[in-house]
Amino acid sequence: MLADRSQAPAAGAGLIDGAAVARQIREDVARDTKALVGRGVTPGLAVVLVGDDAASAVYVRSKGKACEEAGMHSVTIRLPATAPRDELLAHVDRLNADPAIHGILVQMPLPKHLDPDEVIRRISPAKDVDGFHPVNVGKLSTGERDGFAPCTPAGVQELLVRSGVETRGAECVILGRSNIVGKPMAALMMRQGPGGDATVTVCHSRTRDLAAHARRADILIAAIGRARFVTADMIKPGAVVIDVGINRVEDPSSPRGYVLAGDVDFEPVRRVASLITPVPGGVGPMTIAMLLQNTVKAARLIADGAPTAVRSLA
Ligand code: NAP
Repeated sequence: MLADRSQAPAAGAGLIDGAAVARQIREDVARDTKALVGRGVTPGLAVVLVGDDAASAVYVRSKGKACEEAGMHSVTIRLPATAPRDELLAHVDRLNADPAIHGILVQMPLPKHLDPDEVIRRISPAKDVDGFHPVNVGKLSTGERDGFAPCTPAGVQELLVRSGVETRGAECVILGRSNIVGKPMAALMMRQGPGGDATVTVCHSRTRDLAAHARRADILIAAIGRARFVTADMIKPGAVVIDVGINRVEDPSSPRGYVLAGDVDFEPVRRVASLITPVPGGVGPMTIAMLLQNTVKAARLIADGAPTAVRSLA
């Protein structure tokens, strides 16, 4: 069930169930993996984790588990927070050359003494399943299909497509211009083809009258990292609202002392929108699903001998 309108109050938006869509994608990935294994190629993902950030460790464990469930090969390299630059780069070089590895992801954020841009550029673009390497950023913006789009915005686009949202000609307003979400989201929504062809506006902290832009949106995508920032008066009646934000809000009554909230003030906005993603359970589950999909794509491209640059830019 993708857009579950049955749970919505009479005048409320239907919920886009990200967990259900992510499950479908993971089933598709498992099927594609099986087909590749039949050709003698087991898609392999390597995740490098530097330091002991608790949230990153949880995330990396879920990636490993998801890979194994899909029948993929999974490797996790754990380095201490004090790992020198050369040691990290040597691991990336070794993974670039390893034929059993098709996707490489270095978990961010890195400890302060390491330069994330240098590390991202060192990953072979053909194995950059996070889609952050400048070669893949360029391919996304020129519309070349053999690159990799960053997983979170790719997941948002997939949610829209699988929920039957018409994007062609739609006014799409994106809140946030980060390299991880906002900018690639804009590139995906304006790209030609299914899930694209929208008229895109990107707002950020210097935008004049952000609310006026938001109110024009047929599709509003919020990715700014400010809890409940998007209020009901910023929504055009019947708009589709996608909430990428994940924010901790203090709540002494909760056992953890905090609750998770999106960038959207969910209940009031739900009364105005036609479709909306909840937090949690909306965009969140899509990120790992798209990572697996990118890894299978990388394995297929490499197995097919695609003429993708395999050298890094370093
Ligand atoms: P980010 O790098 O901090 O970027 C935030 C963007 O929002 C910036 O472009 C900033 O504008 C803009 N912004 C901040 N405050 C604003 C305001 N008051 N008005 C207008 N624009 C404002 O964040 P991010 O990495 O893109 O992440 C955004 C949110 O998505 C976070 O809550 C994050 O946790 C969540 N997220 C979720 C997933 C997932 O679901 N898997 C993945 C990634 C991120 P400037 O550029 O002008 O500073």
